[in-house]
Parts: sequence; C-alpha cells; structure tokens
Amino acid sequence: MHKVEPAKALDGEHYRDSLPNVNEKGKRLWIFAKKPKGNLYFYRTLFAWFLYIVFFTSPFLKMNGHQMLLFNVLERKFIIFGMPFWPQDLNLFALLMLTFILFIIVFTVLFGRVWCGWACPQTIFMEMLFRKIEYLIEGDYNQQKKLAEQDWDTEKIAKKTTKHVIFYLISFLIANTFLAYTIGVHNLKLLVTDGLMAHLGKLSALLLFSTIFYFVFAFLREIVCVIICPYGRLQGLMLDQSSIVVAYNYIRGEPRGKAHKQENTAIKGDCIDCKLCVNVCPTGIDIRNGTQLECTNCTACVDACDEVMLKIDKPKRLIGFNSKNGIDKGEGFKFSLRNVGYSVVLIILFTVLVFLVASRKKVETTLNRTAGMLYQTQANGNISNLYNIEFVNKTFDSIPIELELVIPKGKIVLVDHDNIIIPNDELEKTSFFIEVEPKSIESNRNEVIINVKSKGVFIEQVKSNFLAPVN
Ligand code: SF4
Ligand code: SF4
Repeated sequence: MHKVEPAKALDGEHYRDSLPNVNEKGKRLWIFAKKPKGNLYFYRTLFAWFLYIVFFTSPFLKMNGHQMLLFNVLERKFIIFGMPFWPQDLNLFALLMLTFILFIIVFTVLFGRVWCGWACPQTIFMEMLFRKIEYLIEGDYNQQKKLAEQDWDTEKIAKKTTKHVIFYLISFLIANTFLAYTIGVHNLKLLVTDGLMAHLGKLSALLLFSTIFYFVFAFLREIVCVIICPYGRLQGLMLDQSSIVVAYNYIRGEPRGKAHKQENTAIKGDCIDCKLCVNVCPTGIDIRNGTQLECTNCTACVDACDEVMLKIDKPKRLIGFNSKNGIDKGEGFKFSLRNVGYSVVLIILFTVLVFLVASRKKVETTLNRTAGMLYQTQANGNISNLYNIEFVNKTFDSIPIELELVIPKGKIVLVDHDNIIIPNDELEKTSFFIEVEPKSIESNRNEVIINVKSKGVFIEQVKSNFLAPVN
C-alpha cells in the first residue's frame, strides 16, 4: 500500500481507522458526489454504453440455434457461446473460475482496481446510469444536499418519487435481463404469454431481484464496493509498489495550499487544496492520503484535478495512473518477478482450459454393474451380469450409440431396447446384460471393457467388472 510521506506529516494516518461514509457514532453518512466531467469520464461513458449493449442483448442472441449464454443453475443447464455444458463439466467450470480469478489478480497486481471503476456491473450501473438520472432530477451534489436537508414539500416529494419510480423501473429491466440469463428467454416469455398468475414462482423471483437491485442502487451504493465486495477488500494483498493505480503525486503536489501573493510560490506544491478531487469521489475518500481500499479507480478525481491544473497552468495528471515507485523514483512500468510468475501460471491454466474445451467429448458415459446383484446363470448355461449405463449428450443433436464389448469375450443384450439413441442435450439411462460362455471365464472377478461408438466412430472407453462362479 502506498504511504504518503509529506501528506502524512500533515494529516497523519487517522483516515485509515474510519470509513468515509460512517460518522463516529456509526451512523451512515450519505455521500453526495459532485458530477464528474472530463476526458476519462467521457471514455467511461462510451465503454459503459458498450457494456450495456452487451449485457442487455446477449441473452437474446442465438448460436447453433440456441440461446448464446445461459446459466440455468436450477435446471443445471449451461450454454456458453452456443456450447451446452452439464454439471459433469464441473472440472471445466472450476478451471474457468480459477483462470478468471487469477486473471483478475494479475490484472490487479499490474493495474490496480481498474476493473472496479471501468467494468464492474455495480459501478457501471451505479455511476453511469442511476447516478446520472439522479443528477438529472435532483441536480449536482450541492443541490442534492440542499434537497436532502429541506422539508418534505411538493418539490422534494415530486423529485424523490420520480427518481425512485425510475430507479425501480430500471431495476425491473435489469432483473428481467438477469432472469433471461438464468432461466432462459423462453421461460421468461411464458410470464407474458401464459399470464403472471400461471408462473407465480418466476414472478416472485422477478420481483425479488428487482427489489434487490433497486435497494442496491438506491440505498446501498458505495457500501458494496467499500465493505461488501471481497475483491475490494483483497486489494491490500494484491497491490505492490509497482502496481499502477490512481494515485496523487505527492512529490509534485505537496506542500499543498493556495499560494498567496506575499508568499514565495516556489515553496508551494501544485495542489491548491481546492478539494475538487474529494468532492467528486463516489466513495468519499481523499486520494491525496494515498491508496486506500475504498478507491475503485473510477478516475473521476483524475478528471477533476486535470481541470484545475489546466486552469492554474500546470501540467495535467497531478492525480493519475502511477505507482509508488513511479512517484518516488520516476520508475516506469516494470514487470516484477512476482508478475512474471503469475503470468506464467495464467498462461498454463488458459492453455489447459482451451485444450480441455477443444477435446471435450460429445457424450459422457458412466457404467456401473447393478448394485446388490451377483451373476445369473442363463438357461443355455451362459453366465450374465446386469449393468446400468448413463449417457450425457453434450450436443444439440440426438446421438445413436453402439456398445462394443472388448473384454471379456461375450455379447451385450440390451434390456427393453433394440438400440440406444440419446436425445439432444439430455441424459439417457438404460440397462443391459453381458452374457459370457463359461469356457471364456478365467476367474470369479473379470475386467469389462466396452467401447462406446456412434455410427462406427469411437467416442470413449468405459470399464467395469464381471462376476462369475468360482471354477
Ligand atoms: S483536485 Fe487537484 S488541486 Fe484540487 S485538491 Fe485535489 S489534488 Fe489538489
Ligand atoms: S479516489 Fe478517485 S479514483 Fe478513487 S474512487 Fe475516488 S474518485 Fe474514484
């Protein structure tokens, strides 16, 4: 974590003992953030609109004739870029999550909490949508403060009601999209075609999620980033002195304060202590104290300070993307040994993941000898064992299956079936006997190997055992 030596001399580190949005009595302090403006804010807005388009349209796009993205946890059905995944693919999911987490760690070690400020759905919706609507209805931070303090007159009731109704409607839209990802667009449409009362469970889920999103964006706000989000709280572990974060250049900025005519301006730093960077911060911190867990790297303070620097004719980026080593020693971006290590592990994980996805079998077979049964002696003297076999079809096409007995020498007799066809994207269970002539039996416990094929093409090999009487 950065420490700000000059500022420390002025302020100490007491700010690390308390949260900016809680007073000494533990009561929430509402943060009225000044409306940001500037180049970075403009780019963030553009990027946010790109993300909104991706988020709101993805569940409605189709690939291979199916919803492009589906994460139906209840029905244990997942589709990623048109490829169906089953709970049997848990190993792939675990690896995917591990790779994603490591990617976030590497990214954080190198570039700090940029994800939070620029791509996290919480910030994207909060700062780029809900807060902008708030500015539109209630005005900038000073007017919002005034409105909060004034009595509940017609103006306040009208503004607050309008804001909260719009907030709820947007939350409802987000909840619909969220459900489109989790229960599928088809199931969501049933709410409209069959009527709300026909699907009370789905309706309750929709209203519950709408209310949760509304509560988060109308009331919880920065508390999510500052207190609840585990990623935010791990920053202290991930950042090091070379990490590029939003940072105040205290060497350049201190001693802060406005230079008066009679003073020697040369002894003043570039920071004129206007506090614009504090006023604009959505988590209510003063970045001049150094890197803090509450900073989401949203860059609102960078824009605010740049504007001031332009006005006082100083170079921009008194606050900007920098590292502790960058500020102290003028060092540029450096790839440390730790970063190299993380990156190598990440590349290995990613390669393994791609290989596993590419070589994923289209059918997954589980073979078990029927529990609790020994062997049977048939009328012709042959010995048989009963087996249960389960197929998971991981494609959107139905697949005909042939079973080829490799060992022991004998034949497979299907129970209740002439052939096996696994319906698309489904699980199929069936049973069969393996019949073996007594002369082919070598011991009372023999290995069974079966090749699973489709239209003559080998898919996989499964194994079990065959019980027989002691010779
Ligand atoms: S906006 Fe810049 S000049 Fe103003 S207080 Fe912050 S760091 Fe100092
Ligand atoms: S300190 Fe700056 S970058 Fe960090 S959250 Fe506040 S405004 Fe955003």
